[in-house]
Amino acid sequence: MHIAGLQKSSLIDYPEKIACIIFTQGCNFRCGYCHNPELFEQREPLISTEAFFEFLKTRKNKLDGVVITGGEPTLQKDLNEFIYEIKNLGFLVKLDSNGTNPNIIENILKENLIDYIAMDIKAPLNKYEKITNTKVNTDNIQKSINLILNSNIDYEFRTTIIKSQLSYNDFEEIGNLIKDAKNYYLQKFIPSKILDKNLMNEKTYSDKEFKEIKQILLKYVQKIEIR
Ligand code: SF4
Repeated sequence: MHIAGLQKSSLIDYPEKIACIIFTQGCNFRCGYCHNPELFEQREPLISTEAFFEFLKTRKNKLDGVVITGGEPTLQKDLNEFIYEIKNLGFLVKLDSNGTNPNIIENILKENLIDYIAMDIKAPLNKYEKITNTKVNTDNIQKSINLILNSNIDYEFRTTIIKSQLSYNDFEEIGNLIKDAKNYYLQKFIPSKILDKNLMNEKTYSDKEFKEIKQILLKYVQKIEIR
């Protein structure tokens, strides 16, 4: 595993659980608002897999689970083995993904390796390339969405929102894309350490506008939260 960082404890990244967070190296998107551009390339791991498991063994009865985030964790060649070892120690696993590798997600779900999955919905499918600044196979994005919708584990979809990138109509399209989803989080864009410095002056929607967007989306999905 290419591990770039470990946050030893978090109360907010795994809903209703206390978890540590593993940041994996490597991502196949280049979202301008990415807060972790240093994770784009797979370099020498900064934390060895062995060191991580030594740490995890000391966290039994202190943590509920492990969040595996990125970068894009499905790019890790030994992801299944890594998760399997975490599960063997008795921890829950939450996986964060951008949904570009449905075959890997399908396999992980089939093997019952994870307990929770969070997938980014960057935009309606026709805007994916613009927002991620990469070539995107949107069939794969749709496949991952369908796999998650039809899975029997807890999940969430989530979107980071810059006002100039996503219109009210785009939320109608996103609603259709994830129709009947149990949980959808709207994430306010916060300009801080991001990839594209040109976005530093961009804004998210106002609280009033977020309420209107929520009303649009409630036609399609079961629960929406703003964070
Ligand atoms: S998918 Fe996530 S990690 Fe990858 S560039 Fe986009 S925001 Fe950053």
